[in-house]
Amino acid sequence: MGKDKVTEEYGSLLFTDAVMQERLPKPTYKELTKVIKEGKALDLDIANEVAHAMKDWALEKGATHYAHWFQPLTGITSEKHDSFITPKDDGSVLMSFSGKELVQGEPDASSFPSGGLRATFEARGYTAWDPTSPAFIKDEVLCIPTAFISYTGEALDKKTPLLRSQVALATQAKRVLALFGKDVTSVITTVGPEQEYFLVKEEDFQKRPDLVLTGRTLFGCAPAKGQELEEHYFGAIRPTVNAFMKEVDDELWKLGVPAKTKHNEVAPAQHELAPIFEQGSLAIDDNLLAMEKLKLLATHHGLACLQHEKPFDYVNGSGKHNNWSVCADGKNLLEPGSNPGENLQFLVFLAGLIAAVDRHADLMRVSVASAGNDHRLGANEAPPAIVSVFLGDELDAVVEGLINDETVEAHGKTRMDLGVPMLPDVLQDTTDRNRTSPFAFTGNKFEFRMCGSQQNLSDPNVVLNTAVAEVCDEFATAMEGKTGDEFTAAALDWVKAALKEHHRVIFEGNGYSDEWEAEAERRGLPNFKTTVDALPQMVTPENIEFFSKYGVLNEAEVNARYVSKAEQYAKLLNIEANTMVDMAKRLYLPAISEYSSSLAASVATKAELGIESKAELELVKTLTGGLDTIYTAVADLESKNADARETEDPQAECEAYRDVVIPAMDALRAAVDEMEPVVAEDYWPVPSYNSMLFWV
Ligand code: ADP
Ligand code: MG
Repeated sequence: MGKDKVTEEYGSLLFTDAVMQERLPKPTYKELTKVIKEGKALDLDIANEVAHAMKDWALEKGATHYAHWFQPLTGITSEKHDSFITPKDDGSVLMSFSGKELVQGEPDASSFPSGGLRATFEARGYTAWDPTSPAFIKDEVLCIPTAFISYTGEALDKKTPLLRSQVALATQAKRVLALFGKDVTSVITTVGPEQEYFLVKEEDFQKRPDLVLTGRTLFGCAPAKGQELEEHYFGAIRPTVNAFMKEVDDELWKLGVPAKTKHNEVAPAQHELAPIFEQGSLAIDDNLLAMEKLKLLATHHGLACLQHEKPFDYVNGSGKHNNWSVCADGKNLLEPGSNPGENLQFLVFLAGLIAAVDRHADLMRVSVASAGNDHRLGANEAPPAIVSVFLGDELDAVVEGLINDETVEAHGKTRMDLGVPMLPDVLQDTTDRNRTSPFAFTGNKFEFRMCGSQQNLSDPNVVLNTAVAEVCDEFATAMEGKTGDEFTAAALDWVKAALKEHHRVIFEGNGYSDEWEAEAERRGLPNFKTTVDALPQMVTPENIEFFSKYGVLNEAEVNARYVSKAEQYAKLLNIEANTMVDMAKRLYLPAISEYSSSLAASVATKAELGIESKAELELVKTLTGGLDTIYTAVADLESKNADARETEDPQAECEAYRDVVIPAMDALRAAVDEMEPVVAEDYWPVPSYNSMLFWV
């Protein structure tokens, strides 16, 4: 039987394991597999052979260029294309690509944010191949996923600390598994990112400078209809959107991105794409590819894809759920086993995770902090800014039992001498889903739901991986040397102690409620409401020590990330403020003025005829009052933004934006939005919420 189109094309633009096996000499393939699976170092002879095979394959697929594909601190991907050509003496060219070019590239690093890490005289950085993420072909360019590092070895990107955190977790988890008698070769994290986005008509998008420049609407009065009828979620997908989604699937499948689920989301014009989970850093690369394809391919269908966390007020914004687990030699460690030993191991990882999340709730919060995400977290559409863990009824009962030292009844025949509880066979109960929890156990994985839709998921995974590495380290250090019953008893005690100590982070109720906020405060859980509140947590002495202890980020790298994140926040708000001022002056004020003038002319003409036009006169007064209010609000925003921009200290600058500029932006928006329902549609200079959200 011949292959169907999908299986035929799946991964055809990906330099997959199968392609490598087919094209590389056996010893080279074996060596490379070791590098990939066991994190071994790559030597140049092997790199040369791989580069040669990669080039031949890429040329056959029509590629003309190669690029190191990397993720600077902006979080989005960057690439510089170099062709394969090498001129020969006779005027012809050779297509060449060396091992050195494969393993290392030298982009000029000076124009990427570095948070002050890179002195200007040392502006160059280099990109180093990440062999755990396969090369792929995109628009006739062979793309090589790489890490981006300064010449002094500091990470300038999102991928490097992620890879380091994966190594830290693998190292420490292997120690834990060894205590359970398991000698595993590979421990990986698995990540499944669910991507939300909006689709609007491209013509509407083009008419809105706020969408074009900032990704979100900075003005717009409430639509006549929002999401209250709950008709969009899982609703039938419109043909245009369907055609778009189909093209996205086709393109992603060629790149080996396992796009699986697509559906309409809660808000009108909102959709979701979920892939099947993969190894952590690969899943993040693939998520970035998916985001890029969503954006670019939308234009083929006359659409614009919005990936901002809050493109529209009054309806839900977009998030990205980070489904996460750890897998050792193919076995999911968050899957309870069928015997007591495996269950004890599961409980160690579960209790460890709970401890990790409670201890590093501040870093988890910072890892999802951004100006965009500030619009969602705690706004009754996404989890609050308080980090808590949801377990579900069954697991919660097990945990409660352990905390209260209750004798656990065995289910079935295997009776445990040391009281390791038998876990319910099926924890995965789909009815038992708490959508309001930021960190929820969903059967065999945790789902971190605070992430923003446009963010690179590396940051939250770095925190999670390192935090779990730390608890694994502590467990192993405490247990090493113990065997048999002594180990079982000590391990169970450790589980109980960890659960008792970190019980406060477990919350099964409604995370959106006000009661929870008060309760969380009583429990002493941190609640960093805004990005600006959360940012300083990045650079506390304990957190600097935490990252450096596990070789994930050193002090200079942590400080640089803090500065870069603060700068990004302030710069983004400055752009938003500028855009608002510009739109108010050049679009809204002239439009309102023009409409009021035409009404005023009509009032005057009618007056000459002895007709009194009360309605028009009232409208002219309202519009003129509105113009004055907008004019004043613009001047206020301009001066406050200028002051904020002048602030030297990054934290103080962010505070000025949050406390002074954002309220001025809100005031200007309110003044403009008040005029929108009063001005005739033909005069209003930009598409309304009604037309953007409910297009056909
Ligand atoms: P939801 O109800 O939240 O949509 P799904 O069961 O569809 O949940 O899963 C959401 C995501 O979780 C998918 O991307 C899926 O591949 C991923 N996922 C499933 N198992 C794991 C795992 N062990 N580790 C990481 N992600 C996983
Ligand atoms: Mg989900």
